[in-house]
Amino acid sequence: MTQPPSKIVKTFPPKGSLQQFRLGQLHEFQCARCGATKKSKLVVVEDGDWAKLLCNGCYGNVLSKT
Ligand SMILES: [Zn+2]
Repeated sequence: MTQPPSKIVKTFPPKGSLQQFRLGQLHEFQCARCGATKKSKLVVVEDGDWAKLLCNGCYGNVLSKT
């Protein structure tokens, strides 16, 4: 999966290799870092690869370390 799962409503500025997007519909995904299953309109994409989605918790952790 390298395409967004639904329409992108809002694109946030990229932070390093991560970029956050708000989708038009709830999207269920497994976080590439913590492995938790999340359902959210807010997703974080790593390296522009929609197969690598991060939850907001991991996004915050990564940002706090950089
Ligand atoms: Zn996570």
